[in-house]
Amino acid sequence: MDRLIKQYIIICETTSQMLNTDGLLKSKGIRTELMPTPGEYGSICTTAIAFAAEDKRNATKILKDEGIAESLEIFPYQSRKLAGLMNRLKDQIISSGFQQVMEKIENGEELTKEEIVLLLKCESKSEKAALFQAADQMRKEIIGDTVEIRGAIEFSNYCKKKCNYCGIRNGCATPKRYRMTVKEVMERVYELHELGIKTVILQSGEDEYYTPEILIDMIRRIKKETKMGITLSIGERSYETYRALREAGANNFLLKIETTNPQIFNVIHPDDDFDTRMECSRWLKELGYANGSGNMIGLPGQTEEDIAEDILFFKKMRIHMIGIGPFIPAKGTPFENYETGSVDLTLKAVAVTRLVCKNVYLPATTALASIDPDGQTKALKSGANTIMLISTPDKYRINYQIYSNKNMVDLSSALKSVAESGRQLPEYLKIHSKEVV
Ligand code: SF4
Repeated sequence: MDRLIKQYIIICETTSQMLNTDGLLKSKGIRTELMPTPGEYGSICTTAIAFAAEDKRNATKILKDEGIAESLEIFPYQSRKLAGLMNRLKDQIISSGFQQVMEKIENGEELTKEEIVLLLKCESKSEKAALFQAADQMRKEIIGDTVEIRGAIEFSNYCKKKCNYCGIRNGCATPKRYRMTVKEVMERVYELHELGIKTVILQSGEDEYYTPEILIDMIRRIKKETKMGITLSIGERSYETYRALREAGANNFLLKIETTNPQIFNVIHPDDDFDTRMECSRWLKELGYANGSGNMIGLPGQTEEDIAEDILFFKKMRIHMIGIGPFIPAKGTPFENYETGSVDLTLKAVAVTRLVCKNVYLPATTALASIDPDGQTKALKSGANTIMLISTPDKYRINYQIYSNKNMVDLSSALKSVAESGRQLPEYLKIHSKEVV
């Protein structure tokens, strides 16, 4: 039996215990990954630490030597089958090809690129319903019904780059530029902390005004004063900077690949280089960040085959948080007249990503909510399990329109989506849905 187990997971009681334990194991040479805590463990800490079975003896000894083994629990972890899936789908009218792929999912088998494309291309109402149902079951069995809530602070809308679709690209006249001080950032951090939120996302354009020293100061203050998990989303930086920020206490890094098709990547990002973006993703992984990525659906020239490659990239890189949103070109940009990506294909991409990547954080993205008022609820019913609150101060948030008509997902709208999708708020959130909805 033991030989069949490829991974073990550590379940912690609190986020700070989880982060400290993960840091300890990494510092002793154990390769770890963070993943959503499987639903059956019902832990308050929604993130678990995974490590390879061959490291079990070492990891256990390290935890014992540090005197923390007693307060943690270690369980074997195996790739999930979806028992009973075909029985649940028996009333749906699905093609034999679609059925074969669903049977592979039920048996816990890996999908090929062609099979992923087949799912992304499904068009009939019953096949789409079957796809969303399977993804929702996978989410429920792996993670449970709790929706992870994170807070995003967009602390600067200056950017040195000119991505062709982006509303805060360098030279774009529309937004009033702003930079938040560390003090202003901390005020928002305290508010999120008081709400019980465990992870703050610090997001900006590629703004070198924020030197490593300023960012380190911000990270250290957040860690010292709140112990919150910190996700950075600040674009491409040097290896040394990524390392310094990691050492200062940043836990996660969100650097979206946007598309794994190099031709499309280069067209939409005139001053980016595909290989550099890939290299940055590898550096972040090597440095021990929980690595976030994501893509846009509906990019000019993008096919379902491209999206399938994106999903396989997320799996291969063992990406921990995957943001999938529709392509929405902002007004006043070179791409302003391009068509917006479809809600339908975005939801299918979310569902297939859940089925292929399984135990990952999948946000119901703000971009989806921006083109469909029910977008977040639909995503939560199609495999998503995370919502990011826009926590940027009111006076600034209107100027962080990376795409036009951006939905300012606030606590009230997030709680509404959680309630509408029949899901639960995390125990750590110091508020109840009925108080707001
Ligand atoms: S997408 Fe990001 S890097 Fe590109 S212009 Fe916008 S903020 Fe800058």
